Formats: sequence, C-alpha cells, structure tokens
Amino acid sequence: MDAIQRYVAPVSLDEAAEILRAGNVTVLAGGTDVMPQTQAGRLRFQPVLMNVRRVPELRGIALEGAVVRIGALVTITELLESPLVRERLNLLWQSCDHFASDQIRNAATIGGNLCNASPAGDTLVPLLVLDAQVVLAGKPNGTLATRRLPLAGFLTGPGRTLRAAHELLTAVEIALPPAGFDSEYFKFGTRPALDIAAISIGLGAVREGRVLRDVRVAFGAVAPTPVRAPRVEAALEGRIADDAAIEAALEAAADEIHPISDIRASDWYRREMVRNMLQRMLCDVREG
Ligand SMILES: Cc1cc2nc3c(=O)[nH]c(=O)nc-3n(C[C@H](O)[C@H](O)[C@H](O)COP(=O)(O)OP(=O)(O)OC[C@H]3O[C@@H](n4cnc5c(N)ncnc54)[C@H](O)[C@@H]3O)c2cc1C
Repeated sequence: MDAIQRYVAPVSLDEAAEILRAGNVTVLAGGTDVMPQTQAGRLRFQPVLMNVRRVPELRGIALEGAVVRIGALVTITELLESPLVRERLNLLWQSCDHFASDQIRNAATIGGNLCNASPAGDTLVPLLVLDAQVVLAGKPNGTLATRRLPLAGFLTGPGRTLRAAHELLTAVEIALPPAGFDSEYFKFGTRPALDIAAISIGLGAVREGRVLRDVRVAFGAVAPTPVRAPRVEAALEGRIADDAAIEAALEAAADEIHPISDIRASDWYRREMVRNMLQRMLCDVREG
C-alpha cells in the first residue's frame, strides 16, 4: 500500500474542489471499491486521501421540476428506500435490489459506482436506459465550474471516464420517463447472491395497446462499458412484440455486444445468456 501523507475531510464542495485543484488526491466515498482495489495492488493511493462524505452538496434525492437529482453520495440503501426512485425510476430501483449485500449497500454510493466505471456496474445499465446525465464540478481556474455530460459519453472504458482529475462527480440527473414507461432489469451472476454481473440487461418501453413506443435497451458486462443498444431498440420501436420483432431484436443484439472471456464467463456464454434472457424478457412483454 502506498503511503498516505495527508487525510482530509472537507465540509463543502468548494473546499473539496480546492483540495482537488492542488492535485495528487484519492477521492474516497463509501470505499467499497477503493479499499479492495488498493489492497489488491490495482489502485495506488495518492499522497492525499480525501473523504468526501461530509460534503452536503453531494447528498439527497430530489425532484426538481421533471428531473430527479440524485447526489453522488446517495447510497444503494437510500435508493432502495426512496419512494421517488421506486415509483418513478423503477429500473434503477430494481438494479439496487440486485446489488451486493446489506453491508455493501449501506456504504456503496451511486457516485462511486459511476466513477469506478465497471462494465458490470449495476446502476449504470438503468441509468443509460434512463438517459441520465452526470454533473461534474471543479475549480480549474479558481472559480467553481459545473458541467453536465450524458452518461453514455462519460464512460470511456473499464475504470475510465471523462472526469478530469480536478473534478468531483456531484450528482446524476434523470428526466422522468414518460407516463406508462414500464421496465425490467435482469442480472446474471455465477453465484446466486453477492455477485458481480456476468451479464445484465435493462429494458424499458411504453405500451400503446400492444405497440411498443420509446423502447430503450442497454447491456452490461458485454463490452468495455455498459452500452445502449440502438439497433435492438429500432427493431422493436413502433412494433408489437411478436415472433418476428423478437427475432429481429435478438439478431441486432448479437451485433451490438462485444463480450470478452474472463473469470466470470466466456464470451460464448455471455452471448448465449444475452440471447436467451433478452428473448425471455421480450416474451414476457408479448404475454404481459
Ligand atoms: C463484496 C462487494 C460486492 C460488490 N457488489 C457489487 C454489485 O453487486 N454491483 C456493483 O455494481 N458493484 C458492486 N461492488 C462494487 C462497489 O460496491 C460499487 O462500485 C460501489 O458503488 C462503489 O461506491 P463507493 O462509494 O464505495 O466508491 P469508492 O470505493 O469510495 O470509490 C470508487 C471510485 O470512485 C471514485 N469516486 C467516488 N466518489 C466520487 C465522486 N463523488 N467524485 C469523483 N470520484 C469519486 C473513487 O476515487 C474511486 O476511484 C461490490 C463491492 C464489494 C466489495
């Protein structure tokens, strides 16, 4: 483990951004990625360890007009306990219900999940389906500046994002999905509990009679980042989920995923799982 020379716990966003501006900082939120990664030698502590848990601007879940703002420090447990998330962003709620154990959920934050940028990160697939934006703040020139990025552009590879070293992720913003938006999250891991996804699927749409509108699909753990699947969406948009539409969607999915083989599953197995589980989800839509 590398030597930490200074531990800091700022009490405002401004103070945190000032510390980041000076450089050489490891940001610590819940620590459920930072601690195992440093202990395994995959992440080196910077000389300054900054605990951001006392920064009030990073807290809270609020409906602001038609947008839900979720502070970066909101934990998985807080998301599960939020009626707003359960009722209006149910896909995100479902993914939290598949997330680790109570102990991890109490510490793990949505901001940490986003900044860790694992292809298997459980909140990332629903946030992609929900067209989330991330909010970043920093003081590159001495004045606090904020910018917003679509999540799809923010994630650039395994463990990589467009967050600059001087920036904190402050929040995620999600426009409320249209009325009648129905969604389902599927996660498959190799153990029945406490597992990281070998594949995950987020599916959402509005049903107009039997016709699907505003279809949104994303996959996790089958590419360097979680990905939206525009060709699967196009195969289903404006159609009834009949056999032909389902087969077209499955063929499009095979083109849109690029799985690798690792300790959790082979690329072949991941392809089979995506095909079979997407088919099952779409058959449920047809019958539902
Ligand atoms: C036993 C176990 C089970 C797990 N199961 C799951 C699971 O089922 N699904 C899943 O998705 N993940 C799982 N994880 C991974 C982990 O819990 C999540 O990724 C979690 O959301 C990370 O949040 P954190 O607050 O603990 O992040 P931290 O460990 O504190 O930080 C993670 C990274 O984000 C950076 N960071 C954190 N907050 C900010 C911020 N506001 N601004 C800028 N950078 C920031 C940190 O510097 C670090 O690089 C598991 C981990 C463990 C140990």
